Order: sequence, then structure tokens, then C-alpha cells
Amino acid sequence: MAEEKSKAKLLKEELLMDPKNGGIVLTDKEISKAFAYCDEYKNFLNNAKTEREAVTYAMTAAEKNGFKPFDKAKKYHKGDKVFYNNRGKSIILAVIGSKPLDEGVHIAASHIDSPRLDLKQRPLYEEAQIAEFKTHYYGGIKKYQWTAIPLALHGVIAKSDGTTITVNLGEDENDPQFCVTDLLPHLDKAQGKKTMSEAFTGEQLNVIIGSLPFRDDKESELVKLNIIKILNEKYGITESDFLSAELTMVPAFKAVDIGFDRSLIGSYGHDDRVCAYPALTSLFDLKVPEITSICVLADKEEIGSEGNTGLISAFLKYFIADLARPYGLMGRDVLSASKCLSADVTAAFDPTYPDVMEKRNAAYLNYGVAVSKYTGHGGKYDTSDASAEYTAWVRNLLDSNNIMWQYAELGKVDQGGGGTVAKYIAQLDVDTIDVGVPVLSMHAPFEIVAKLDVYAAYKAFFEFYKA
Ligand code: MN
Ligand code: MN
Repeated sequence: MAEEKSKAKLLKEELLMDPKNGGIVLTDKEISKAFAYCDEYKNFLNNAKTEREAVTYAMTAAEKNGFKPFDKAKKYHKGDKVFYNNRGKSIILAVIGSKPLDEGVHIAASHIDSPRLDLKQRPLYEEAQIAEFKTHYYGGIKKYQWTAIPLALHGVIAKSDGTTITVNLGEDENDPQFCVTDLLPHLDKAQGKKTMSEAFTGEQLNVIIGSLPFRDDKESELVKLNIIKILNEKYGITESDFLSAELTMVPAFKAVDIGFDRSLIGSYGHDDRVCAYPALTSLFDLKVPEITSICVLADKEEIGSEGNTGLISAFLKYFIADLARPYGLMGRDVLSASKCLSADVTAAFDPTYPDVMEKRNAAYLNYGVAVSKYTGHGGKYDTSDASAEYTAWVRNLLDSNNIMWQYAELGKVDQGGGGTVAKYIAQLDVDTIDVGVPVLSMHAPFEIVAKLDVYAAYKAFFEFYKA
């Protein structure tokens, strides 16, 4: 005989929610689908470590899926698929829906830049017969994490003759790699007394790139000379070409499964490829939607969305205006009726560091995609704070499609904070909310996400485009 539920238990089930509002509710079949999806995601991580590489990947995949370069002189119709490549560093992809554009568009916006060590414009020097590159870190990093790990060199060198050289060195198993040194524990007494921000300074993030001097010569700085000779032979550059280069050191690790159960992925750059990849691939899997669906993969989020490839720029607004013009519509007519999921990561609850989280409003691994009504810091500064009405619309979308999701706030009040691209899209008069994947060790050279959450993000973006 089945045990009868008490009145209190029945009432609890009816009126209260699990504070985490989720948990593993997936079947074995769904779990294996999620794992298979993440194998493709790992491939993306390994092939798109910079925003430029992510744009190249997205463009190539888009063309395979029938997308054509956007032509602003053209009038597009339902089912048309286009992409707009902004300077090779950000990209907008769109699938035109069956409803008119003044009913709005559905935008999933994520970013494809990640924290890293950019080379300075005059990076090359020699000291004590070691050749090194000076760097200027990009984005919020904990500097000590970038010492004593293998690094790879990625980027471009634009020469004054108009040609551009693409650099990708340290990823192939036969490639050399690079490294920032750290002090040995035997001699770190003074370093150990400093605070973390004093113990590792930006100007100490120098990267070792060689040590053999150029032979048979009496000149000085022969190690530096030997390095530039190698670079000249390999890339055809001289020292002054660094002035117009965008070269960056990123972790040389590959994405790998973490845990005996292989439930997690460790990798560089989950923030924000872990949202960019689901936002992109779910767009590819879309048939003709009712509302025009747009995926934005933006640059420069990690430094405040600045510049003409970040979402502070008008490029998204211009794209929408160009799409609308042939229909006699203004871009603003479209934007004011639009909805956006700002697809960015949030912090996952880490049992080793519970004190920074407010456990009732934190995101947990394997509880699905995380919805944050607001981000920001110190009394909700610097956040767009989605409306209750739009939050309700998103809740209903996720629940009615059986998508595993949870509510999330990034850390305790006044503990710190952070922002996303949400506020820059909300500024265009678009209803916007943050929806993304929880991450452990965010901004570290090796971040961790749960496979089930990645797949939940894919499903969430897919249903959002379709809605
Ligand atoms: Mn991010
Ligand atoms: Mn970030």
C-alpha cells in the first residue's frame, strides 16, 4: 500500500519551489545526447581560442548551413539565412522569420573574446640572454594563474603593405610553446608577505620566447636578434611589424573531460564560448521561425564591450536598420518590439569557496541553464535589470519546453559583481535578460562547466529562436 502524503507535504508541493528549481530530471537518452553535443563543443573550444578564430569558425559553419553574406541592398524573405562579419572579430547571423520585422526579432547575444595576455606593441626584448615578450593582460585575470603554464601564440600581424599574416603557434603537438615564469618557493619569502595583487604585477607577465644567441657575431642582444631572424624567416616580418599586430598568448591546453564520470569539461575560454556555441548551433538547427532569429557573437565584452567590434558599437543597430529598410521600416520599429537573451556565463556554486555565494540565489552545476534578472554590483549598478513581465515570459518559455533551468545571482550582495552585454542591448529599447551556463574557476586559464548545462543552454536558445 502506498504511503499517504501528509497535508503539509501536499501543500508544500503545491506552493513552494525547490530553491534551486531544477536538478537532474533528464533521461539516460538525454544525458547521452548532451555528452555527444559536448564532444562537438570541445572541438569548437580547441579551434576558436580568440574572437577572430571564433568568427572564422562561425562563418565557415554558417556557409555549410546555407548562410550567405549579408547584402544591405537586398530585401530578405522568410527562410533566408545571412551573416554579417564585422571586421573578422564579431559576427551577426540571422534566419528571417515568417512574421513581419516590426513584430520584432529574437536576439541571442554572446561574446567570443576571453581573458588572455596580449603582446604589447613593442613586445620583444632580451635580458640576461633570455628573449621575452612584454604583455598587457586583457580582461579580468588573477595574474598568478597565468604563470608556469604552457601558452600558445595566436593572432594577426597587419603589415604596412596591406597584407595580414595569421599566427597560430603552440597548438600542434610539434609546435613550440611559451611560458611566464614564477618565483621558486625557496626564494619567495618577500613575495609571500605581499597581497595577491601586489605579489604578481602586470609588468611581470613576461613570456619566455627563446634563449639561443645568434652565432658568430660580436654585437649585443644576440638572442633577440636570433628570435627576430626566426620570425622573419617564418612570417616575413621585421620588429616594426609588431606595431600593427594583434598577438596574444592563450593557454595551450586542449579541452578535456573532467571527473571519473566525465560529466564536466575543463578548458580555456568557456566564458563565453559555452554560450556562443549553443547560440550558434541552435540557430543552424532552426527551420523557418515565425520571428526573425538573430545570433550575435561579439568581441570586447571582457573589457567593457568597447570599440567598433564590441556591443557598445552601433553595428547591431545598423544591421537591424539595414534589414528593415527595404520594408519601409526604421530599425527602431524592429528593436522596440524585440526580445534578447544576453547569453553569458555566471558563477557556479563552488563548495570550496561557499562564503562568497548566497546559496539560495546561486547557480549550481547540473541544474541547467541559469537565468539572471540582473547582474551589476553594489546596489544593482551597471545592470539593465530585466522587467518582471519579460522574466515571466522567459520562465514560461523554459518551463513549457521542459528545459532544465535555475535562477542565479552572481555572488553575495556587495561581494563584487560583474556585467554582460545585456545593458548595451537593453539600451536599444530591447527586452533583455541574462541566460547562460554556470562556470567554476571563471576567467582562470582552465575553467570548468557541466555538460548537462551546456546542452540545456542549446535547448533554451533553440526554443527562444522558435518562440
Ligand atoms: Mn562573459
Ligand atoms: Mn568574462
